[in-house]
Formats: sequence, structure tokens, C-alpha cells
Amino acid sequence: MTVKAYGAHAGDQPLQSLDISRRATGAHDVQIEIAYCGVCHSDLHQVRSEWAGTLYPCVPGHEIVGRVSAVGAHVAGVKPGDLVGVGCIVDSCKHCADCEQGLENYCDHMVGTYNGPTPDAPGHTLGGYSQRIVVHERYVLHIRHPEEQLAAVAPLLCAGITTWSPLRHWKAGPGHRVGVVGIGGLGHMGIKLAHAMGAHVVAFTTSESKREAARALGADEVVVSRNAEEMAAQAQSLDFILNTVAAPHDLDAFFALLKRDGTMALVGAPATPHPSPQVFNLIMKRRSLAGSMIGGIPETQEMLDFCAEHGIVADIEMIRADEINAAYERMLRGDVKYRFVIDNATLAA
Ligand code: NAP
Ligand code: ZN
Repeated sequence: MTVKAYGAHAGDQPLQSLDISRRATGAHDVQIEIAYCGVCHSDLHQVRSEWAGTLYPCVPGHEIVGRVSAVGAHVAGVKPGDLVGVGCIVDSCKHCADCEQGLENYCDHMVGTYNGPTPDAPGHTLGGYSQRIVVHERYVLHIRHPEEQLAAVAPLLCAGITTWSPLRHWKAGPGHRVGVVGIGGLGHMGIKLAHAMGAHVVAFTTSESKREAARALGADEVVVSRNAEEMAAQAQSLDFILNTVAAPHDLDAFFALLKRDGTMALVGAPATPHPSPQVFNLIMKRRSLAGSMIGGIPETQEMLDFCAEHGIVADIEMIRADEINAAYERMLRGDVKYRFVIDNATLAA
């Protein structure tokens, strides 16, 4: 099946309209007509070859929502017409310890929704900036939000789970003081989720213009991280910091804000390394530096259901497919509140 998509032929070229092919729906496959796809900063890193190993043509997009348009003979969990989502994972080995524990995100053979190995043409996976996708049923999520919210649910499939998973792992909840650094697509979901989990949330931003907006998202306190006095006022006060910043920056300034035994988990994935942390900032208070990658399929469903129950969606700005290059430039300037979402119906235009 040939479908319309948006992608690039090289890292220094803009995204443009492309025709791509999707495999026939296999016995365990679900074919999805994509309604909306969120725009993650990872899409930009990948398509512009900022991370090593981008394969072209590159069609990004791993915050996919839509309706089931066909299912294979052995698919039992979903039926045509169901509202579903697909995140960053479309395959994994299915039998290693990580897969058995529902942590497919850490499987050595995890296949990303784009740029991953596949026997399908052209030999690597192509993502959600496209009209349809065909995915093994294991990696298809149920969406239980009202249909009117569908576009704003899309970013939960990456920004939502990437913040949910570490917040749960490091036990954000009542009595915990949680810092969220960077108020972009991931960060704004981190604030909403940590708040809904009952934590006291301190948001850190480089943008004075986001101070009020961050409170509306659920932050109890907002710190402009360029302001040394505001930073000093938070010294040794946080149990956990979720750092979503997409660029190299001084991590030491944030270690100083952790209590004894506190942890800072990095989820931002800049193209070049952060300046190395000062060891004394860690050893003096037995602090930890950690990382976390997206989340497994069962915890993604758990997050989606939690969000449906609590009425949580992303704050989005809808764009047409042909506005994607301009949207990337705005994302680089931090000029989005807080996630662009492509209306995939505009791919047909
Ligand atoms: P985004 O929407 O562009 O948000 C990033 C935010 O970081 C910006 O809004 C800005 O917030 C802050 N920031 C940007 N440049 C900065 C700088 N030079 N110094 C300080 N702060 C800066 O990006 P996103 O989609 O949330 O993604 C964030 C990062 O996470 C990306 O690197 C992405 O690839 C990565 N990611 C990782 C995973 C994972 O599994 N670990 C999953 C998805 C994405 P303020 O204006 O508030 O300062
Ligand atoms: Zn992403």
C-alpha cells in the first residue's frame, strides 16, 4: 500500500511530501489510519542527523494516534474503528528479560518507530508523519480519552511516557519535592504528571515568559534558572529532578539543589555531551545521576489510562504537514506551548 508521508532525503534538506509503502497487514498486525502525530524534539535530532546513524529517506513521528483500519486474523485486542496510539516502539525480541517484564524499551532488539531495522521497504522503519502505519498488536495502545481530545492525547505517546516512567520509578508522590528542568514538550508533561501524582513540583526554565504558564500547568514554584538568587533558594531541597533539556548545559547547578541521596535523571538527549559533572557535587551528599528512556508498553497503557481518568492531555498547537519545517525552527527557539501536533489529514493536500 502506498501512502503520503512527510520526510527528508538528507540531514541538510527540509522535509517534503513523499510517497512511502506500508506492508500488508499480517496475522498479528494492526493497520492504523493516523489522525494526528505529535512533533518531538527527537524527530528533529534524528532527521537532521544530529545523532549518529540516520537512514534516509527519514520519516519521523512517534506520537501517533488514530483509528484502526484493518486487523490481522490473529488480532484479538483491537478491532476496526477503535481509537489507538503508537509510541516510540514498533517491535522488540519479545522473549528477553526486559520484554518479559514489559520493559521493551530496554530490549537490545527494540525497533524504533522510525530509523529502526525492518525487512519492510526501504529497510528501516518510517514514522507517523504519514497517513497509515502497520504495527504488531503488542505495540498498539488503547485510547480511552473522549475523541474530541484525540489530537492532544498524541504527545502522551512519547512526552507523556518519557516523563511518567522516571517519575514512577523514582517514586514521585505526596511528600516528595520534584524538580522539572526545561518546560518544552516533555517538561510540560512532567509538570502535569508529577502534580497529578501528588508531588510538590518546582519547575525550572530559562524563559522568563513561561513563569506564569508553568504555574497553570501545575507547578507549585517556578524558578528562572538564569537567576542565581532563585536557584540558591532551592539549595538541597529536592528529592528528585527530571531534566528534559535538549541542549548541553551545566548539570552542577542542579546537583546543588538535590537533598542527600537525591537523584537527577536525564531524559533530554543533546547531540553533544554536557560538561562533566563535578564529582564532589555527587559524593558529598551521596547524590545520583541517572538516565531513563521512554517506557515499556504496559506502563504506557497505565499512563494513558491514568491520564484519561484524570483528564490529562498535552497543551498543543496544531499544524499542517507543510508547516513542519517552520515548526522545527520555532521548537529550537523554545517558541511552542508546548507541543506541535500535525493534522495528518493535511498530508493528502
Ligand atoms: P523541546 O520541546 O524542544 O523542549 C526542550 C526545552 O529545554 C525547551 O523548551 C527549553 O525549555 C529547554 N532548553 C532548550 N535549549 C536549552 C538550553 N540551551 N539551555 C537550557 N534549556 C534549554 O524538546 P522535547 O521534545 O521536550 O525533548 C527534550 C529532549 O528530550 C530532546 O533532546 C529529546 O530528543 C529528548 N527525548 C528523550 C527521550 C528519552 O527517552 N530519554 C524521549 C523523548 C525525547 P525552557 O524554555 O523552559 O528553558
Ligand atoms: Zn519523542
